[in-house]
Amino acid sequence: MKTFCGRANPTTGAMEWLEEDENYDYHQEIARSRYADMLHDKDRNVKYYQGIRAAVSRVKERGEKAIVLDIGTGTGLLSMMAASAGADFCYAVEVFKPMANAAVKIVEKNGFRDKIKVINKHSTEVTVGPDGDMQCRANILVTELFDTELIGEGALPTYEHAHKYLVQEGCEAVPHRATVYVQLVESKRMWSWNKLFPVHVEAEDGEKIIVSPSEMEDCPGVPSVCDIQLNQMPSSDFAILSDVVTMFSVDFSKPVRSASTSYRVQLEPVKSGKAQIVLSWWDIDMDPSGMINCTMAPYWVKSTSAFQWRDHWMQCVYFLPNEEPVLQGEKVYLTACRDEYSVWYKLQKARGEEENKAAVRVESPVCRCQAHLLWNRPRFGQLNDQNRTRQYIKSLTKVLKTDSVCLCISDGSLLPVLAHYLGAKQFFKANNLEDKIKIIEARPELLTSSHFEDKKISVLVGEPFFTTSLLPWHNLYFWYARTAVASHLTSNVTVLPQSASLHMMIVEFQDLWRIRSPCGTCEGFDVQTMDDMIKNSLNFRESKEAEPHPLWEYPCKSLSDPQEILTFDFRKTVPEYSLSTEGSVNLLRKGKSHGAVLWMEYHLAADISVNTGLMQISNEKGNCEWNPHCKQAVYFFSSVIESETLLDLPSAVTYAINFNTKTGEIAMDFEL
Ligand code: SAH
Repeated sequence: MKTFCGRANPTTGAMEWLEEDENYDYHQEIARSRYADMLHDKDRNVKYYQGIRAAVSRVKERGEKAIVLDIGTGTGLLSMMAASAGADFCYAVEVFKPMANAAVKIVEKNGFRDKIKVINKHSTEVTVGPDGDMQCRANILVTELFDTELIGEGALPTYEHAHKYLVQEGCEAVPHRATVYVQLVESKRMWSWNKLFPVHVEAEDGEKIIVSPSEMEDCPGVPSVCDIQLNQMPSSDFAILSDVVTMFSVDFSKPVRSASTSYRVQLEPVKSGKAQIVLSWWDIDMDPSGMINCTMAPYWVKSTSAFQWRDHWMQCVYFLPNEEPVLQGEKVYLTACRDEYSVWYKLQKARGEEENKAAVRVESPVCRCQAHLLWNRPRFGQLNDQNRTRQYIKSLTKVLKTDSVCLCISDGSLLPVLAHYLGAKQFFKANNLEDKIKIIEARPELLTSSHFEDKKISVLVGEPFFTTSLLPWHNLYFWYARTAVASHLTSNVTVLPQSASLHMMIVEFQDLWRIRSPCGTCEGFDVQTMDDMIKNSLNFRESKEAEPHPLWEYPCKSLSDPQEILTFDFRKTVPEYSLSTEGSVNLLRKGKSHGAVLWMEYHLAADISVNTGLMQISNEKGNCEWNPHCKQAVYFFSSVIESETLLDLPSAVTYAINFNTKTGEIAMDFEL
């Protein structure tokens, strides 16, 4: 069966009807899934196994049969652990059909066909009884339904239902308990992901400061968690204001309530400062005694020897609705509110007990300024990047004349405001602020001269930035928009940026390679079926695709020099023909070539560029430094070449890159 999916192409902006194979979504899901990362998570796997063995023994010691319910079995891993530990029978429930099929194969291959029954259902659909999916209720409940925020994948309602209908009272649960920890911090860097800071503009008639409107200043933002690899945040980028405290915990062996609720703790600031951010993570105890503990605590909290890299569980950054000054030793209350799927925080000064209690409401914050809906966290950071802003100011100053008629094509951009402060009299802004700036709600190809009051555009600007962009080159939409408005431009129009270039470098990742690397066996179980399935999904489209990753969170070393591979001239319209290039990159350093990283650079005006990728090839730790506000494109090589010495180093990686100007797609091929 073929399905037609309508969508706007992120690069060309064209509405297209794509004939999608019915398997397209499922292949995407498998290819980009976290299953490989989980199977590589040794610490998690070892502890689950220990916890499961202990739970099976406790049940056996009571002289009972060990009947296991594994909700969200994925590859079947935890059920196979239980069967190996001596469980009498396991019900392995998996809602995602391709995974349930894989689990059946993996279970068979490992010889557990008689002990494990895979049920392809959502757990809430599972029936119990002589004719049901399960013969009887289980007395061991095993799950791994957690995300970085713990409850974001629906663990609470799933547990609530399982205790009511699928497991016996007093059952054993692995994990036994989860605990959520918090720490209050002040961090200009992280706060810049949530509020727009004043922008300083050096204009001819003195310095101007652009401040955000008060609705934005006071806006509580959105309740969505910001999950990051907190271990990549240097301690110099935040100030700790409180000790680590336990916010709440959930006992999975008892009935669980998923209804909205709140928890409150008292904090005594260890330092005076501005409370802005709540950092949070969790740990799980695999057994009741707490001896088998798996923790997401960041580097400054736990010893480095306990360190396990993983991407399926990270740490949470929560923004308080407003920054709140706190004084060392002067107690404050921190409230965590949660619904079934998400958590948000409030801070209150410790005044009267009653007053505070009354003030705790569980409604989630609602963005009142629109900015939190329009801009994501990295976009806030980007707009607050003073260095970047300076480049735009410098280049605007160069190109703007008092009689310029400007058009800006970018989403939620500050360029029109900057240009206005720099003296531009006429400003139009397409797509998405005052008298001098006219906002046109129309797609570029639908603009008519009446939109511009019959004037011709003499300066066309863009950052470029579009909220629809996923991969770096999707912002080439600016080029297509520029082409669409060509008839409204003066013959000697200035286009800012004048051009862009695509850059590439071969890298060795410290850890990120794990998410796309085969596992073979996991804790002694053969999971190759899963590897094959991922490989098959990756090859589903003839050309493998690059994927976006914010590389400041994923350390890597360069194995080659960065190389400019394609340029795009915005002064001209998009050509009819494809842009392609072939060549080779020399490998200069020994290491494992995991993949190529690609990024864009925009040349605003002569000698002024903004770079969305590599900032520094090697920092003090020998790792590359990347633009922290942008995602870069990563193309993982299907086989990794490893060179121990420079002598056995293959001299180069050859590449062929093709930018199809019709489809806006970049296809790439590498040979090692
Ligand atoms: N247990 C495996 C996989 C964990 S990933 C392991 O530890 O390696 C979680 C899996 O649970 C996913 O495959 C997801 O599809 C499935 N899932 C989540 N909630 C579920 C539910 N309520 N019922 C059935 N499957 C569920």
